[in-house]
Amino acid sequence: MMNKEQYLDSLRKLKPVIHCNGRRITDVVDDPITRPHVNSAAMTYELAFQPEYEDLMTATSSLTGKKINRFTHLHQSTEDLVKKVKMLRMIAQKTGTCFQRCVGFDAMNATFIVTDKVDKACGTNYHQRFIDFVKYVQENDLMIAGSMTDPKGDRSKKPGQQVDPDMFVHIVERRDDGIVVRGAKAHQTGMVNSHAMLILPTTNLGPEDKDYAVACVIPVDAPGVVHIFGRQTNDGRRLQGDIDTGNSEYAIVGGETLTVLNDVFVPWNLVFMCGEYQFAQEYVEYFASYHRQNYGGCKAGVADVIIGATAAMAEYNGIPGASHIKDKLIEMIHLVETMYNCSIACSAEGHKTPAGNYYVNTLLANTVKLNCTRTMYEVSRLAHDIAGGFIATLPYEADLKSPETGHYIEKYFAASPKVTTENRIRMARLLENMTGGTALAESMHGAGSPQAMRVMLYRETNMEQKKELAKNLAKVKV
Ligand code: SF4
Repeated sequence: MMNKEQYLDSLRKLKPVIHCNGRRITDVVDDPITRPHVNSAAMTYELAFQPEYEDLMTATSSLTGKKINRFTHLHQSTEDLVKKVKMLRMIAQKTGTCFQRCVGFDAMNATFIVTDKVDKACGTNYHQRFIDFVKYVQENDLMIAGSMTDPKGDRSKKPGQQVDPDMFVHIVERRDDGIVVRGAKAHQTGMVNSHAMLILPTTNLGPEDKDYAVACVIPVDAPGVVHIFGRQTNDGRRLQGDIDTGNSEYAIVGGETLTVLNDVFVPWNLVFMCGEYQFAQEYVEYFASYHRQNYGGCKAGVADVIIGATAAMAEYNGIPGASHIKDKLIEMIHLVETMYNCSIACSAEGHKTPAGNYYVNTLLANTVKLNCTRTMYEVSRLAHDIAGGFIATLPYEADLKSPETGHYIEKYFAASPKVTTENRIRMARLLENMTGGTALAESMHGAGSPQAMRVMLYRETNMEQKKELAKNLAKVKV
């Protein structure tokens, strides 16, 4: 296993092409824009070496029998699935944001299932290749970006019908030694501080889309790969100081990219699907359900911080004991624990797959994420309600520190005598940054948009059986 410093050193050895705000990021570890995201991912390495978290953060490899970081594990039981949720909540309580490494974790477990299915149906040899890859990941404790979402172009058209064929990643050449792929992946969480990306399809495919049925691994700094780093709400504040960013150590959300693949060569040993379009839809569903399982873990941990910040703000404002404040805090707790319940339930109700790893209950996992699209907005609304409007109107950090204006800010933003004005502002900025803009949009669309979950809920529900239940009681025959 790698510790935090070894992870940072491993990133320094890579040379990805990263564009950001009209310049190149050449040192992802120390650049002020990417550093907080690196810090957050590094927690997945650091905590694995802390004895109190060993049980959650590590596992025994089903492939080698060695101790590994849980983020590289193939789930071997429903207990493993439950531990994953508990681990995510625990890490998020420390970072207050996304730590990115779950996407590759989920993509690997989904690929393990699908390569086994494809081999059994088509006589291919993807599964053993993939096992070899997972062993390598476990041995070297790599961070893998899970790369599913394509830009998609015209949403009314399938990949093969797009005016621009590059709107979905596709194979442009099959060679004796491998394949060449072209296209792009969008919203790529943690990409710039991962070691490699695991590409998988993003939608169901038909026979005409064969070239879009591709799964493979590409190093983040492979020739032809270009990353364009995404802009976040308030990211420019990272260049201006510490207080106004709110969470200066770990920032908000995962640091996403548009990752362009300009005719990238992939050797056969890293190709895990090549044309088997009939498995694309279930591949997407396995990956998406694993990732939707997570949201009652990581988002519950993030919300724990929001609840704590809100309760602290009530104290700092001088009204901690007001009954309406307590009622709203109870409502926040109720919402968050409901999300967590769903994640634990979909894990406990998981099952063993024919490939041998464990998979969540699909219906319940999709329920988790659909709840999250509402819960995080409501939790944020209640936080704003309690904290007060000043979280949106505070002056700049530079004016707090200015000899000309600082004393006015100190005087007129003071509230409870038990807290300094600066600390009141710090807590307000944390809440501001955790409950608005990019953070909320991510709660809505991360792991798929709400409509995708609604489709899954309807598909996974046995409506005929429910109608039969009603007919029996109503004594209706047809
Ligand atoms: Fe992991 Fe949550 Fe970030 Fe997804 S949003 S990568 S589950 S921490």
